Amino acid sequence: MKAFNNVPVPADGEPIQFQDGKFVIPDRPIIPFIEGDGTGPDIWRASRAVFGAAVARAYGGKRRIAWYEIFAGEKAFSRFDNWLPQDSLDAIKEFHIAIKGPLTTPVGGGIRSLNVSLRQLLNLYVCWRPVRYYAGVPSPMKHPERLNVVIFRENTEDVYAGIEWRQGTPEAKKVINWLNNEMGCRIRSDSGIGIKPMSVTGSKRLIRRAIQYAIANQRRSVTLVHKGNIMKFTEGAFRDWGYELVREEFADACAIESELSGPVPAGKVLVKDRIADSIFQQVLLRPDEYDVLATPNLNGDYLSDASAAQVGGLGMAPGANIGDQHGVFEATHGTAPKYAGQDVINPSSVILSGSMMFEYMGWKEVSSVIEQGITRTLAQKRVTYDLHRLMEGATKLKTSEFAAAIIENMNA
Ligand code: NAP
Repeated sequence: MKAFNNVPVPADGEPIQFQDGKFVIPDRPIIPFIEGDGTGPDIWRASRAVFGAAVARAYGGKRRIAWYEIFAGEKAFSRFDNWLPQDSLDAIKEFHIAIKGPLTTPVGGGIRSLNVSLRQLLNLYVCWRPVRYYAGVPSPMKHPERLNVVIFRENTEDVYAGIEWRQGTPEAKKVINWLNNEMGCRIRSDSGIGIKPMSVTGSKRLIRRAIQYAIANQRRSVTLVHKGNIMKFTEGAFRDWGYELVREEFADACAIESELSGPVPAGKVLVKDRIADSIFQQVLLRPDEYDVLATPNLNGDYLSDASAAQVGGLGMAPGANIGDQHGVFEATHGTAPKYAGQDVINPSSVILSGSMMFEYMGWKEVSSVIEQGITRTLAQKRVTYDLHRLMEGATKLKTSEFAAAIIENMNA
């Protein structure tokens, strides 16, 4: 098999295949990983130890991951003079599922963002962020355990599509002239312009994934989050297309809140919608009424981080970008460079992203083992510095010691 970045593909592994609409996962799947910059190597060392122990705990020696290093960020730049080698993108394309640590965002023009490149190349149209509380983690809320949501955020459209013209440029002037002269708008001539496209295709495929997830995981409801009272033909349409999708494809499995006169019929997933500003209040004041959330790009970006803060912050928050045939799992925090190489950083975000990865692969036993290990370790108040400084009576562990404690608790 072709070597990517001149690194031989592990001989003891097999590629994951995508056939007839689903993944075929061998017992020794090759999974590319990007270690990450700054604290990335500390985090990856700990996470990899936990993943190896969890797979062994779940399946004995029958299954194992063949890890395959690919390069991006500073390590790629120092080796290949390229922040994001095409071979790294091609490897993820080839092997379908990958995991990455945080990467430095290079300062300066002309450098592609890894996340944007991956999203475009692999059509990763869903940003998937589960947000739940782990007992013992310090939180600003009285009842952080009442929030347990899974956010599906549209990843390719909206004001994040990158269609913008800088104020004062000929392009901006041209667009403003056209809007004012031909479309009946009144836009100030000294404006910068950004475009907010939202399509039937992009909205429905995102909402479809959220509903499928809710059905497969016996979740109670899917809430369509939108700002449709103001932006009727984009955000409002997102809501309308969502309900249209429910009627077209999920009429047997779902019930629509506005059409119900009594309780939700047994076994059906409730589909409802909430205005974006309202949902920020609702997740604080009535968190237990929300479950799966489907959102356009910008609202989802804000809501994911705000929800993560409720349950203890970004250091604990896992995430993934997924499409139909590919998934890239990652830390949601940055490289925290001042702690690099000190073996002190909290690796939970990557460890929990790995747990999502195993769930996505259908290796649910591994996810359960990881969840058990991390839940017990946090409940024992054995934590890294960031949680230690906020917890009374906790034991401060190094990154590697925290991983060892998780493994000990997985095997207990
Ligand atoms: P950051 O790396 O997330 O770190 C900011 C602070 O957050 C840290 O100093 C630390 O706070 C805390 N923190 C972050 N991760 C933690 C963890 N795992 N455990 C414990 N504490 C953690 O944000 P930044 O300093 O703004 O960004 C640094 C670099 O990362 C930049 O180049 C940025 O572009 C990049 N970045 C990458 C990604 C990504 O790859 N997904 C995401 C965001 C940022 P204390 O100092 O209070 O302990």
